Amino acid sequence: MKKIPFATKAQLEDICKEYPTPFHLYDEAGIRATARAVYKAFSWNPGFREYFAVKATPTPRILNILHEEGCGMDCSSLTELMMCQRCGIVGKEIMFSSNDTPAEEFAFADELGAIINLDDFTHIDYLEKTIGKIPETISCRFNPGGVFQLGESKEGFQVMDNPGDAKYGMTRDQLFEAFRILKAKGAKRFGIHSFLASNTISNDYYPALAGQLFQLAVELERETGAKVAFINLSGGVGVDYRPDQEANDIYAIGEGVRQQYEKILVPAGMDDVAIYTEMGRFMLAPNGHLVTRVLHEKHTYKEYIGVDACAANLMRPAIYGAYHHITVMGKENQPCDHKYDVVGSLCENSDKFAVDRMLPKVEIGDLMVIHDTGAHGFSMGYNYNGRLRSAELLLREDGSVELMRRAETPDDYFATLVW
Ligand SMILES: *Cc1c(COP(=O)(O)O)cnc(C)c1O
Repeated sequence: MKKIPFATKAQLEDICKEYPTPFHLYDEAGIRATARAVYKAFSWNPGFREYFAVKATPTPRILNILHEEGCGMDCSSLTELMMCQRCGIVGKEIMFSSNDTPAEEFAFADELGAIINLDDFTHIDYLEKTIGKIPETISCRFNPGGVFQLGESKEGFQVMDNPGDAKYGMTRDQLFEAFRILKAKGAKRFGIHSFLASNTISNDYYPALAGQLFQLAVELERETGAKVAFINLSGGVGVDYRPDQEANDIYAIGEGVRQQYEKILVPAGMDDVAIYTEMGRFMLAPNGHLVTRVLHEKHTYKEYIGVDACAANLMRPAIYGAYHHITVMGKENQPCDHKYDVVGSLCENSDKFAVDRMLPKVEIGDLMVIHDTGAHGFSMGYNYNGRLRSAELLLREDGSVELMRRAETPDDYFATLVW
């Protein structure tokens, strides 16, 4: 789909008068519309809840907007839990899906009343020793091993990932044993969780995963007598980073999951199971832009455009070679007849937002929007080369702009040093 920025050049130039580039800008209207679409797509399931993966965009104002739209939060660390607590999001509105978990994080999650999702069989004992009991509501993460593939065609598989290589979750045998032990120790409401593939561009991923988990839930109830109260499809629903990709259709996804539910759970008498999701990328990625200005043009063996953002603001291209679409503001209708590498300032040759990208002729001072940076963008930022994290701004529904996080200053960078 053609990528159109959610703010105009005039709006961005206006914002730049108060907040210098680079900055991350988020679209409140888009975030709310996405959350509403997700809830509508799963409205057939009365217990449905999206637990937003906080790691994707750990910004309180964003969490509050999603909470207003009915979302809970998926946390995996102490500070993510603390942020939710400070936002007033506690209890069963938090899913604690962590791995390699320190004792104090289990203790704090329990203190907040969060649903704890156990990543490993040995964590039953560890949790019990830590908090002195087994919670009545408990979830276990499942890893089926092997390879997960979907939709084979001449071009290859639509989705392919390697659960057998992933550090997460329990084997099937461990899961059955875990349910028996947890039940004997007093657990009453059980959940199962699984994350098999990342950034899937396929309306079939959730339905295929749901089919596997629903079947497993039926067998778990039958063999262990444990009451399965919810099934958590976790994250992994992707976005169309490239303009030639077709975006996922959340309504088709919700309908696909419903069909599996009718086929597998309802005949087994399990028609009260709640569906949970933990999407991060799908909720936020398209609703964020990294806005940056062109500082330099360099001509050597290639044509380089140097911008004032760098991989410290958006790491995905540098570490995964990820594609992020770029719009040169005000030049949307000019032909893309120039080939550039768009680079940041890090002393790292991987610090390139785009390689051999066809763009309109770029000039120093042009504003660029880097698309789909609302999830796993700012949050993966770091301070390499002494680069500072940028501000995060919210474009409100009424068109005004709100500072959600100020840019770091050198004092922030020096604050932890002992001289
Ligand atoms: C990262 C993560 C998510 C979110 O994944 P997305 O691809 O952003 O949807 C959800 N659940 C868990 C446990 C995760 O680690």
